[in-house]
Amino acid sequence: MAKITVPVHKGEVLTATVADLTYEGNGVVKVDNYPVFVPYVLPGEQAEIKITKVTAKFAWGELQQLLTKSPDRVEINDARYLKTGIAPLGILSYPAQLKFKQHQIEELLKKAHLDELKVAPTMGMDQPYHYRNKAQVPVKYMRGQLQTGFYKRGSHDLVPIEDFYIQDPKIDQAILVVRDLLRKYNIRAYDERTGRGCIRTVMVRRGYYSHEIMVVLVTNTKQLPHAEEIAAGIVSGVPEVKSIVQNVNTKRTNKLLGLENHTLWGSDTIHDQLLGIDFTISPLSFYQVNPQQTEKLYQTAIAAAGLDGTQTVIDAYCGIGTISLAVAKHAKKVYGVEIVPAAIEDAKQNAKVNQIDNAEFVVGKAEEQMAKWQKEGLKPDVLIVDPPRKGLDETLIDAAGKMAPAKIIYVSCNPATLVRDLQRFASVGYHVVKPIQPVDQFPQTPHVESVVVMERA
Ligand code: SAH
Repeated sequence: MAKITVPVHKGEVLTATVADLTYEGNGVVKVDNYPVFVPYVLPGEQAEIKITKVTAKFAWGELQQLLTKSPDRVEINDARYLKTGIAPLGILSYPAQLKFKQHQIEELLKKAHLDELKVAPTMGMDQPYHYRNKAQVPVKYMRGQLQTGFYKRGSHDLVPIEDFYIQDPKIDQAILVVRDLLRKYNIRAYDERTGRGCIRTVMVRRGYYSHEIMVVLVTNTKQLPHAEEIAAGIVSGVPEVKSIVQNVNTKRTNKLLGLENHTLWGSDTIHDQLLGIDFTISPLSFYQVNPQQTEKLYQTAIAAAGLDGTQTVIDAYCGIGTISLAVAKHAKKVYGVEIVPAAIEDAKQNAKVNQIDNAEFVVGKAEEQMAKWQKEGLKPDVLIVDPPRKGLDETLIDAAGKMAPAKIIYVSCNPATLVRDLQRFASVGYHVVKPIQPVDQFPQTPHVESVVVMERA
């Protein structure tokens, strides 16, 4: 094996021009073709960089001083956002963020020799801030009192924050009310190192259309001292609150929520609407966090499906049935499959509440259920898939090939696995018929969501 010579050493300071931006939004500087990743620098910028970590294949560096500025750089008012994972792309102007996302898919296609496929400009938001309808905020004791904020990137060090920049400001206000009540009643913050203390996380959700707020207090203990007073304080301090829940998570894990919920006040759930359909949201439900962009995403997917009320549709990875129920209005029959049983219960309930009776939901692994449906002879006209980041299992693609729907709509949250799956779909006879449409679901972050339409060759 050729000996690898690493051209930099830890602690070294070098001046370089940033060549590229990784899919995680870090700048890349090349030293004799050896990459150094540097957060918060942009392509074209010259910077003084201090090497902080060295491995055989790459190094990490820290920005010391910016020598030239990219025209795409925006000054971010509060440097704390840069320390945390809240807005990792916040230094890039919004139009440039949208181009970055489009470009990322193009680059991955090129690497896979699929450069004949076109990518449309990313659909963005008019106001790409304050969009999140959900916050999960860690609680820690520091600087002599209980604090809420966000973790420093790559660590569990809390940075106290009051304005979270990308969350609905009403949610930020609710978090402060909760924080002050926890301080007032001397509730002990959970300490990850010792496993002791009470309050771990505050989760707040707010319906974009309904304006209903849910506050979830995640505790390490079964008992929440002064629960009644705290709930009463939230009710008077957060006028829109409809539900206050204690969630018990006694495990020493990074998982935020436990399985046990006790409603302290009000309803067990809140409601919101997407494309005019009412959804019930419980503390553990998966619900899209950017409702405005989710509507655009679903509208794009539904329009691409070309439905006229006569089609049979499968919605694989259906969650609480958001896509299925939006599609049901335009289809003869919709089948949804999802791995989380509670989500399927929500989906069934959501169908009932909205008086939708042509949607059927099953709990299962999408890949297994698809193979089963295929053996049972189900012939969908349209297949919609919206998988998690790891993309699709090959068995699902094989089953899809055998079921032979006229159209497949792929909603992807990870362009790398999307491109891999498009190659696999090509081998079972499907080709992409329209430019891939990125829709920006997570402004100020590098996440890329897109919709792809395929038809049988
Ligand atoms: N379409 C929904 C959910 C998309 S998120 C929406 O837009 O709201 C992806 C979903 O896939 C999650 O709900 C997750 O629980 C589910 N999931 C993950 N792996 C799965 C599998 N192997 N089979 C079925 N569902 C799965």
